[in-house]
Amino acid sequence: MRKKIVAGNWKMNKNIQQGKELCNSILNLLETSNKEVILAVPFTHFTVLAELVKGSNLKLAAQNCHHELSGAYTGEISASMFASLGVDYVILGHSERRAYNNEDNDLLRKKIDTALSQNLKVIYCCGETLDERNSGVHFDLVAKQIIEGVFHLNSEEMKNIVIAYEPVWAIGTGETATSVQVQEIHVHIRSVIARKYGEYVADGISILYGGSCKPSNAHELFSQTDVDGGLIGGASLNAEDFISIIKA
Ligand code: PEP
Repeated sequence: MRKKIVAGNWKMNKNIQQGKELCNSILNLLETSNKEVILAVPFTHFTVLAELVKGSNLKLAAQNCHHELSGAYTGEISASMFASLGVDYVILGHSERRAYNNEDNDLLRKKIDTALSQNLKVIYCCGETLDERNSGVHFDLVAKQIIEGVFHLNSEEMKNIVIAYEPVWAIGTGETATSVQVQEIHVHIRSVIARKYGEYVADGISILYGGSCKPSNAHELFSQTDVDGGLIGGASLNAEDFISIIKA
């Protein structure tokens, strides 16, 4: 059985007071279930939120980490620092970091290794731009992101990888990929992984969808066989919306 996961990506939103309020509202509404619910919050919030989520089934994620564990990298934060705060996951390869911080698959591979070395699980994002989809290269592009990002790992390490398929054209735009588009690319991702690691490993990997997922479309998207949950941006900033996506 694959793990069902819903992760909220707060991005650079919510100050610490607002973050505490949102986290408390989510905790109040959250029902115990077998789903993994994750909040990817700003770095500055971990100490406070780690106390709030203690004993609950809410997990915390970082939105990035540096590719080295320590050193002269002013302003950066390392995977070992997150691990020491009780953070469980790190999102790597988000399209905003690929676009605004020039993060490519080679750098992401190093970041993934560093994160795994600290026992953080990785939510590795992939996805195409609208131009790439319109020119028909999206299947190859997503395969390349996966191959170059994670295919150096062994089968055991792959157990700590979650894939998030996030078409760039659907992120924060209100435009969602159709459930048919999402299912076909998730099947493709799983088959790329199966070719390298075999069916058993590929079947065990959770593949999330992200891109304008909201209460009104979550059920339809999550009911696809190869969609194991979602990475949620905008809608995770509202406790009721986020909870209704989790219920979906
Ligand atoms: C995201 O940034 O990961 C995301 C899915 O954003 P949104 O849900 O706002 O499209």
